[in-house]
Amino acid sequence: MKLVSVVVPCYNEEEVLPVFYEEITKVTDQMSADFPELEFEFLFINDGSKDKTLEVFRTLADRDKRVRYISFSRNFGKESGMYAGLKNAKGDYVVVMDADLQHPPSFLPEMYRYVKDGEYDCATTRRTNRKGESKIRSWFAMKFYKIMNKISQTEIVDGAQDFRFMTRQMVDAILEMSEYNRFSKGIFSWVGFNVKYLPYENVERTIGTTSWSFWGLFKYSLEGIMAFSTAPLAISSLLGVLSCVISFILIIITIIKTLILEESGSGIPTVICIIFMLSGLQLFCTGILGQYLSKTYLETKHRPIYIAKETDELYRKKKQKNANKENSDK
Ligand code: UDP
Ligand code: MG
Repeated sequence: MKLVSVVVPCYNEEEVLPVFYEEITKVTDQMSADFPELEFEFLFINDGSKDKTLEVFRTLADRDKRVRYISFSRNFGKESGMYAGLKNAKGDYVVVMDADLQHPPSFLPEMYRYVKDGEYDCATTRRTNRKGESKIRSWFAMKFYKIMNKISQTEIVDGAQDFRFMTRQMVDAILEMSEYNRFSKGIFSWVGFNVKYLPYENVERTIGTTSWSFWGLFKYSLEGIMAFSTAPLAISSLLGVLSCVISFILIIITIIKTLILEESGSGIPTVICIIFMLSGLQLFCTGILGQYLSKTYLETKHRPIYIAKETDELYRKKKQKNANKENSDK
């Protein structure tokens, strides 16, 4: 038998979770019938939700033995949720998908077909369009991928998503990357392996709301650049060199002007311009340095990527204990 773990990071998804559970079990039951070698487990991650997501997990765990969950002590972000899921998944294959049904479970059988013969180590969907997204957002996304792929050796595929069907081997490779600043689009690509991209038309979220703001996405893309490229550091040195060259030229021009042409105008505006330009450049470059330093600072602290407060195991044990107590009381 082969076990497939379905990992689902959830943040405030109480409304959509029951629907998601219906949909995913429909597909997995069909798959168990089509591929008798497959067994499933569902690993839900509660990323510090403020609604009743955890209660929904408990109800699902009561109903279905295959449901496992981990509940964080606070919101750690989707990246941490995925890491916790991959780390605790027991399967020979691991699926990562969103709870909001934007990653249609109906893709799973096709994905499994690609991965099962060992030709591919991972099957994933790739958005063919950005329908249902604002123009500005699409434009920024396009630019991000363009810049990213120019300045980093790790290729980040435009439109690739966090909906993946992976082999155990690939999951273990991803877990080896235990960095604190996680940018999974880069991590998935950095580990290599044969990846099959399935084209997919974006579907809009029907229930609940997205937790990504434009600013959040912007910060996330900077995170990606910092995690997988050191080009900004090179840019800052380049700017330094450039300004040195410019000031050197200015010095020569001034010398020529005063000594040979014997001109001596007021130099104050020029001086002010130069001071502004150079101090601006310096601040810009120290800023870039500071960003990388802050990332290094966080990495060297070796903080945990997530903290679990409750798991299905604890919950089931507690329930068992209560049941035993009731029995002995009788
Ligand atoms: N998510 C999470 N932690 C967060 C934000 C989001 O676990 O801090 C989960 C969320 O519940 C969903 C998935 O990540 O299952 C994708 O989130 P969302 O749909 O908001 O993002 P989008 O589809 O707009 O990229
Ligand atoms: Mg979504």
